This record gives sequence, C-alpha cells and structure tokens, in this order.
Amino acid sequence: MTDAAATRTNLLGLAPAELEAFVVSLGEKPYRARQLLVWMYKRWVGDFEAMTDLGKALRARLAEVAEIRPPQIVSEHASADGTRKWLLRAGASDGLEQAIETVFIPEVGRGTLCISSQVGCALDCAFCSTGAQGFNRNLSTAEIVGQVWLANQRLGSGSGGDRAVTNVVLMGMGEPLANYRAVLPALALFLDDRGFDLSRRRVTLSTSGLVPQIYKLAEDTNVALAVSLHAPNDALRNELVPINRRHPIAELLEACWHYLDAQNGRSITFEYVMLDGVNDQPEHSRELAALLVGHDAKVNLIPFNPFPGNRFRRSPREVIEAFRDDLNSRGVTATVRRTRGDDIDAACGQLAGRVHDRTTVRLGNKMIAVEVEA
Ligand code: SAH
Ligand code: SF4
Repeated sequence: MTDAAATRTNLLGLAPAELEAFVVSLGEKPYRARQLLVWMYKRWVGDFEAMTDLGKALRARLAEVAEIRPPQIVSEHASADGTRKWLLRAGASDGLEQAIETVFIPEVGRGTLCISSQVGCALDCAFCSTGAQGFNRNLSTAEIVGQVWLANQRLGSGSGGDRAVTNVVLMGMGEPLANYRAVLPALALFLDDRGFDLSRRRVTLSTSGLVPQIYKLAEDTNVALAVSLHAPNDALRNELVPINRRHPIAELLEACWHYLDAQNGRSITFEYVMLDGVNDQPEHSRELAALLVGHDAKVNLIPFNPFPGNRFRRSPREVIEAFRDDLNSRGVTATVRRTRGDDIDAACGQLAGRVHDRTTVRLGNKMIAVEVEA
C-alpha cells in the first residue's frame, strides 16, 4: 500500500451526512454527495472516473483523496445450489488468517447475504467453528457495509435500482452486538433510502444474547432480531452458549420481549442448533415451548453443521422433524432451516475457509490451526 492509499478516505460506510461533510470539506457543493450516493448505492460503481456527472476536476480530486474500497476478494466459490461464498481479506495489511466470509443464498424472489461482523469471535459457543477460532478483531463499518456492496457489484445488480441482495443477515462470523459501535452505522446504511434502501424486516441481526446491547439496540434501530437460544434451560445453555452464565435465559427473554415492544416488531426468531442427543429430546421441545408459547416468537431449527475437531453430531432428520412437530403442536411456530452451500462449506458455523493448506497462526495468545486458500 502506498502512503497516498493509506490516507485516502474510504467512502464506503460513511453516513450520507458524513459524505456530505466530506464533499464540502473539498470545497464542493453538498449536492455532489447525493450524486456520489447514487453512483455508489444505486449503480454499484466504485470508480470515480466513471461518475460522468461529477465533472472532470472533482473526479480527479476524489481519486487523490478518496476511494471506494470494499474488502479484497481472496477467493470466490459457487455451489451447485446457486449459493456463492467469498473469502475476503478485510484489511489490506491483514494476512490470510484474517479472512472473513460472506455467503449469498439465492431464493425465488429474494437474495439473502449472510455477512460477518468480526474476524473470529470471543464467545466460544461449543458447536461453532468461528468460536473455536477465537477472537481476532472487530470489522469496521466500511468492512461490514463493503461485504454487501461487493456482493451487489459481483452479482451484477443493475443500474435501474434492482439489487441482487434483497435481504441481509448478520449471521456470518462474529457476534454483531460485541461490535456495536461499527455495526450500528452499518445497519443505518442498510436501511437508508440513499444507501442500500432495504426494508427493516429484511435486515436481521443475530445475537447469542448480549442482553445490555439488546436494550440499547431497541433504542437505536428497528431491524429484525434473531436470537441464538439453542437450549431450553440454563444448565444446558451454560454449556453450549457460555455467555448464558452472565445473562441467563429469563433475562435474555425479557430483553427480547422488550425489543419487540419497543420496535413494534412482528416476531423474534429463536435459532436452535440440533445436536444429536444433546438438546434434541422430547423433554427439550416441551421445555422450549413452555418458554415461548404466547409470545411473538418463531423457532428456526438449524441442523448442526459438523466441522473437524468438534465433538457434536447432527440430529437425525426424523428427530429434527419430530422436534419441529412437537413445538408446532404446542402452539410455537417452528421451521427447519434448509442447509445450503454444503458443498462449499458455506453453511452456518462452517465459515472458516476451505482446507487447501493448514497453517498455524497466532491469534491473541492462542496458537491455532487455520485453513487458508491455496
Ligand atoms: N454470533 C451470532 C451470529 C453469528 S452465528 C450468533 O451467535 O447468533 C449465526 C448462527 O449460526 C447462530 O445461530 C449460530 O448458533 C449458528 N451456528 C454456529 N455454528 C453452527 C454450526 N456448526 N452448525 C449450525 N449452526 C451453527
Ligand atoms: Fe460467536 Fe455466534 Fe459462533 Fe457463538 S455462535 S461463537 S456468538 S459466532
């Protein structure tokens, strides 16, 4: 990276008001920011030279002092079922062990992008490969927003305002509420009609249950909320989702119902990973139903995705279906998540890179083996 590149302002991730202040600081009229926003978020153009209505002098000046820099693509995989996965290098100075992943899941009438919020995760849930990797660093707002921007660009979103990415879920690597400061402005830009212009019901933040931040989120935004519950009682959840020791289930659910009230939300989705013989028994569905019945809650059962070195197994399909049926019969809406992108390791909890080469790297004070692209 040259010195000039190091000092250029990355316009991705700036709020419209910040972009306007930036443009004004260059001695330009504020409406130039609106023109820039159209190029960036309606046409997915990242090259100032192509922004023909900006004027030659301004284009040259912008190229000197600014850039539109999404994370760098390390590799791109397309699955047989249409799922696409990108391995991205977030910071220009990051090594490959710092790679993050972004997954696109096309469905009829919509395209969902699953994005990362951190490199690694500190919360160490027992069944999660990101947790096993440990925490490395928070992503910046530009890096979070940049994943969606890049996907739109790569997937050929048109200039007529049509977007390949219609839904965004923060369900990739990392705990979004542990990176609140960078995640919140990203959410704002997803919803802003001058930005990604997504409806609030099409942006979903998934959390393992950072209770104080859920209360804060209720004040600051109104996106859809998904909560990784995974167990119907504290004894089991303490083992599977260690943050439960600090914020137990009753406290978490209270925060959830508060979020729904404050946001006039439709419902909260509770994610529940199906682990063979661990949390998938009839007593568990009974207990889970008792927690949720009568509330605006849905349960999404996620077949566990195994990864090397992990002790759990996926519940058999009949067990998952019986669990779902039992919840439904008790008045709690439950569905089973279809596993997509299995052949490219793009499924939940597998976002750690495909094995070509095993390298040992230092993450904080831990030495871990990471899988990097050749
Ligand atoms: N940290 C946030 C968001 C990222 S994890 C959270 O925990 O909610 C996104 C979802 O993937 C969570 O519901 C998580 O529990 C689930 N998940 C993690 N590892 C998994 C695995 N190996 N198989 C299936 N789902 C997994
Ligand atoms: Fe972190 Fe979510 Fe994985 Fe738990 S499930 S370790 S919170 S990414």
